[in-house]
Amino acid sequence: MRYLCRVDILPHMNINDHTDWLEIDLGAFKRNIAKMSEITGKPVMAVIKANGYGHGLAEIARAALYGGAAICGVARVEEAFRIRRKGIHGKMLVMGGAMTDHIPFALAEDISLTISDPVTARTFSQEAVRLGGKIHVHAKIDSGMNRLGVPAEQGVEFMKLLKTLPGLQVDGVFTHFARADEVNAGTTEQQLGRFNTFLTELKQVGLVPPQVHAANSAASLFFPAARFDMVRPGIALFGINPAEDAILPEGFSPVLQWKTRLISIKDVPPGCGVSYGHRYTTTKTERIGVIAVGYADGFRRVDGNRVLIRGKYAPVLGSICMDQCMVSLDDIPEAQLEDEVVLIGSQDNRKITAEMIAHSWGTIAYEVVCGLTARLPRIYRDD
Ligand SMILES: *Cc1c(COP(=O)(O)O)cnc(C)c1O
Repeated sequence: MRYLCRVDILPHMNINDHTDWLEIDLGAFKRNIAKMSEITGKPVMAVIKANGYGHGLAEIARAALYGGAAICGVARVEEAFRIRRKGIHGKMLVMGGAMTDHIPFALAEDISLTISDPVTARTFSQEAVRLGGKIHVHAKIDSGMNRLGVPAEQGVEFMKLLKTLPGLQVDGVFTHFARADEVNAGTTEQQLGRFNTFLTELKQVGLVPPQVHAANSAASLFFPAARFDMVRPGIALFGINPAEDAILPEGFSPVLQWKTRLISIKDVPPGCGVSYGHRYTTTKTERIGVIAVGYADGFRRVDGNRVLIRGKYAPVLGSICMDQCMVSLDDIPEAQLEDEVVLIGSQDNRKITAEMIAHSWGTIAYEVVCGLTARLPRIYRDD
C-alpha cells in the first residue's frame, strides 16, 4: 500500500472535494477596506489578529496591504512572525504584549511593538541598545478600557520618558474604546475627552504627538471625532456588524461563507435516540441527514442550531459531535447525498450570518468567526 502525502493529493483537489470548508472572498475584503477609508477619509490600519478573525492570517494580511491598508495590526508577535515568514513585508504593529526575547525579531523584520508601561519601555530600550538597533514602537494610553496602557493622566510623563530612552523610535500613540459599539455614547465621549486632554497637554509641553489612532470599527463609523490620524478597524473589514446595535452602513459585505455537505441520509424509526446522549428522540419515522461539521470546526455544541439545505432551513437534531451532526430532512425531501449545506452564507434567498449564529449562541459575531478552527480548508477567491 502506498500512502500519498499531502502534496500528492492537494494539487488534484478542488473545492468540490471538501466536505467542510470556508470560502473567502478577498475582493469583498478589499472593497470593505476601500469603503472604510472612503467613509472616514483616513488611512486604515487593518486589524487582522486571531488568524484574520478566522479568515486566514497571511492571505488576509496580503489582501489588506494590496487592498490599500496603510499597516496591519496584530495581537501577538507570533502572528507578525507568521506573516513575515510568508514573504509579506508590509508595515505591521503588534498591539498586544511583547517580550524582551522578541526584540531581535522586531528589529530584524521591522515590526512595530506596543509599549504599555514604563518598565517595558526601559527593558526594551536596553535590549535594543545592546543589539545596536532602534525598535519602532507605539505608546498605548489607557483612556478608560482599563486593559493595556498608561493611564491618560500619566501619559505626558510617559511620552517624556519614551523620548529620553535610546533605542526606541516612537511612531505612534493610541488608545482603545470599551463601548463604542453601544447606542449610549457616554463612555466613548468620556474616553475621547481623557485622550484629547492628554494630547493637548502633550502639545503644551512641546512634544509633537506621533501618529494618533484610536478608533476600532464602531468608533471609526459612528464617532468621527475618534478618527484622528488613522482608523483601526477589524470586524467591519470582514463585513460583520460590530454589535446588534452597531450596524454597518451600505457598501460593506461579508467576506466568508462556511459550507459542508450531506454525507449520509437515512430514515430513523420512531422512538429512537439520536447522537451522543440521545438528547433527541424521533417521534415518527424521520428522515435524518448527517453533515460533515462538528464542534472541532467551531460549530457550537448547543441547542437551536440550523443550516441551509436546498434553500431551506434544516434544524440540527441532538448533540453536535466532534466531526458530524444530524439535521432534520423531513421538510426537505429533495435533499440528496453530497448536497452543499450552508452554515454561514446564503442559499437561494435565505441566509445565515455570523451575527445570526452569535445571537443564537448568546455571544458576539467576533467569537463565531474567530472560533473557526485550523482544520477547515480555507478557499480564497480574489476578484
Ligand atoms: C481588536 C482590536 C481592534 C479592532 O476592533 P474591531 O472591533 O474588530 O474593529 C482595534 N484595536 C485594538 C487595540 C484591538 O485589540
